[in-house]
Amino acid sequence: MTTFNFCAGPAMLPTAVMQQAQQEFINWQQQGCSVMEISHRSKPFIKVAAEAEQDLRDLLQIPDNYKVLFMHGGGRGQFSAVPLNLFQAAANATKSSADYIVSGAWSKAAVEEGHKYGKLNVQDIRHTTDAGLRTITDPSQWQLNSNAAFVHCCPNETVDGVEFTGLPQTDVPIVADLSSTILSRPIDVSRYGVIYAGAQKNIGPSGLTLAIVREDLLPAANAAIPAVLDYRLAADNDSMFNTPPTFAWYLAGLVFKWLKQQGGITEMATRNQEKASLLYDYIDKSDFYSNDVVKAYRSWMNVPFFLGDERLNDMFVEQAQQHGLLALKGHRMVGGMRASIYNAMPLEGVQTLVSFMQEFERVNG
Ligand code: PMP
Repeated sequence: MTTFNFCAGPAMLPTAVMQQAQQEFINWQQQGCSVMEISHRSKPFIKVAAEAEQDLRDLLQIPDNYKVLFMHGGGRGQFSAVPLNLFQAAANATKSSADYIVSGAWSKAAVEEGHKYGKLNVQDIRHTTDAGLRTITDPSQWQLNSNAAFVHCCPNETVDGVEFTGLPQTDVPIVADLSSTILSRPIDVSRYGVIYAGAQKNIGPSGLTLAIVREDLLPAANAAIPAVLDYRLAADNDSMFNTPPTFAWYLAGLVFKWLKQQGGITEMATRNQEKASLLYDYIDKSDFYSNDVVKAYRSWMNVPFFLGDERLNDMFVEQAQQHGLLALKGHRMVGGMRASIYNAMPLEGVQTLVSFMQEFERVNG
């Protein structure tokens, strides 16, 4: 039976990539050992690392004045790294506060961490419409402080299933947690000061974290920042100040090559939109299932949905699993179901899910 894994992260990776990694697992490039058993400073690994960076630069069209950092620590590591680095970088300009936009669970968690390192002006943009739907204030309407060191936001909220694509008009550097939406559609990198993302959704295995940092936002050398979170140290050492997560970096490189072969992220955007529309259209037509996010802010990547009768939840998850549809149980904070449909999820996976949902509705509706 073909299985489709809807886990929010660590998420499924492209089958072709997994097969290639499997083939070269024991004896990589005739080295007589695995890529995870060689030095990060060896020539073959440095080539892998440099190619992965270049492929990512090509895919996202990253301008030359941005550093691409391959770091440890996940999204939460960046919740600390961002204020630690950016408050330092802005210290000369006496900018000691930052704007933090809250659009869901992860941007809220970033606030809780950021408070440790400076003054935050927190703006919760979540609302409920008269019809009881969840929505957010559009980025064009955010109240921003022109003297802030940076503005932090999370354009795709993995738990809440809320996504915005616009950005505010501001001269303040925009810092975006793109953990669950990076590479799902084209973006204009030059509009951001920092982009960061944990790898385990659209990039590769967990353990690797990307930070794309505009050069003028690198902190001063010898800043009081834990060395492994220091953007300048990472940049000055080609992300090899300490031993990087080499296997995850290698696998991310394979994913980037796969993305290029598929036609790049413009093609991914077409596919992602098609997959998301298929699922949302079916949910909207059905009286049995619902999604409570206003259409303009629905996530392409994470689709939470609810059964009208919550008592059927466990049976839905169990039967879905028997049909090869894995990890559909919703996040504990939201309940219901959640289908995460990142780049690696083929259209066929969403079609199979919708067929299963139809049949479940027919029998239990
Ligand atoms: N930000 C977002 C948007 C996320 O989805 C997650 C994890 N699901 C995190 C941050 C935290 O990432 P990590 O577990 O890698 O620290």
